[in-house]
Amino acid sequence: MSTESRAQTVLAALPSVRPWQEDFYRDLHSHPELSHHETRTARRTSDRLRQAGFEVHEGIGGAGVVGILRNGDGPTVLLRADMDALPVKEATGLPYASTATDEAGTPVMHACGHDVHVACLVGAAQLLADAHDEWSGTLVALVQPAEETGDGARGMLDDGLASVIPHPDVALAQHVLPFPSGRVATRSGPTLSAADNLRITLHGRGAHGSMPQAAVDPVIIAASAVLRLQTVVSRELAPGEPAVLTVGSVQAGTKSNVIPDSATLLLNMRTYSDATRTAMLDAIRRIVTAEGEAARAPQPPDIEAFERFPLTSNDPAVTARVAEAFTAFFGDRAGELPRQSASEDFGDVPNALGVPYTYWGIGGIDPGVYAAAERAGRVNEDIPVNHSATFGPVLQPTLDTGTQALVVAALAWL
Ligand code: ZN
Ligand code: ZN
Repeated sequence: MSTESRAQTVLAALPSVRPWQEDFYRDLHSHPELSHHETRTARRTSDRLRQAGFEVHEGIGGAGVVGILRNGDGPTVLLRADMDALPVKEATGLPYASTATDEAGTPVMHACGHDVHVACLVGAAQLLADAHDEWSGTLVALVQPAEETGDGARGMLDDGLASVIPHPDVALAQHVLPFPSGRVATRSGPTLSAADNLRITLHGRGAHGSMPQAAVDPVIIAASAVLRLQTVVSRELAPGEPAVLTVGSVQAGTKSNVIPDSATLLLNMRTYSDATRTAMLDAIRRIVTAEGEAARAPQPPDIEAFERFPLTSNDPAVTARVAEAFTAFFGDRAGELPRQSASEDFGDVPNALGVPYTYWGIGGIDPGVYAAAERAGRVNEDIPVNHSATFGPVLQPTLDTGTQALVVAALAWL
């Protein structure tokens, strides 16, 4: 039978899942947990997967959860959801809005919609487990902590993920995004940017503010480096090659009449190809080193990387297979995803395991509200985006669509 007709059969039971799935979602939404603190979410998710008949492994790389359902011969499909929230004070006004704070009193909110991802995954897991006669193979449900800090996927790998799960043939993931609910969108090739964050310490030699001849002024090195760094994208990359280099923080000194010993820059960089990423990292090193030398710096700068996100580049064959299955199932509600400037660490797991993957978007905005904003030419002003305090995906058809998308995509292999 075709993927589409088997998907229809499996998803015919969606109305029986919907009531508990919506409760599950509202519960996660009102109990968000920050990166590396997702213990409650992990426990609730594990319980659900175990109830659906999955073999469950908990505590992988922190709160990471893996559920495995072996259902005869066939391919192994990995479905991934992330589960952490953000330090944002919720302002959606929803009846199930979060009032949670962390231990330090910082407000916490599911402002990126990772609660949608987990709810859709447990719903899809239940439906596929119930309809095991319709498919064969192995299903792996991976629920990852700490996506927002960029180290959750690597944490699971470092903690032995590869020895816990059977080797997947394909890895699939999705994200709720600010476009109309009910729609799904795929993209082949580079889809989310790679992100690199650098802390650069520029060394000088401190002295009294009245005696510059005794100093090597790191403030001048920093000022000159910040300007020169702006030429990396504008003068070293081809026009049309998308990339961003932002110096988000410049810090040096404490007092007007003290020349400090050092200055610190924080850089954020976004790229869509490995070649561009390498070229930009080389250019940054070259420029800050040369600015130091020009100023007689006593030692070369220290460059420290933190919060790195890999490029999310969707495998063309895998993406084509998912896109075809989506078009058959969703009709004109399936479309193309524009390239996103945001970043994700989903790719770390399939990259480490040598598995092809694709990552698609599902809409989370009320279609009527979105259409009105479009008509008024006010999409940027009126439609809340991920990470904002008013980003509250409509419950339906968002959960239905995300659940359907996971089932349809998985069945394209199973
Ligand atoms: Zn996010
Ligand atoms: Zn996210």
